[in-house]
Amino acid sequence: MAIKCPNFSVGDISSFLFPDMASSGALLAEELHCSICLDVFTDPVSTPCGHNFCKSCLSQCWDSSQTCKCPYCKEAFNQRPDLKINITLRMVSCFLTYFQLKCNIE
Ligand SMILES: [Zn+2]
Ligand SMILES: [Zn+2]
Repeated sequence: MAIKCPNFSVGDISSFLFPDMASSGALLAEELHCSICLDVFTDPVSTPCGHNFCKSCLSQCWDSSQTCKCPYCKEAFNQRPDLKINITLRMVSCFLTYFQLKCNIE
């Protein structure tokens, strides 16, 4: 049995889950992709400068360098920031991955 692709866009999903965020344009498709691995986030974490990366990507990046810099905007942090998983982003990423998988099955 073919699974129909629901044709949901990230906007649909986010406006369904987070009407306030979606209407303010806070959540865009690009923001759900890690700029290190270019994939949808797995365990997204936020840097103090407000950028998001997969926890593993960012840890790897910082493990291999002397300084902790945001890989995106290059802002340097004196101390290695405490990385907390962004629950909201992770939820949206899970939905996105789920719908993408469904689309691939079809
Ligand atoms: Zn990544
Ligand atoms: Zn940054």
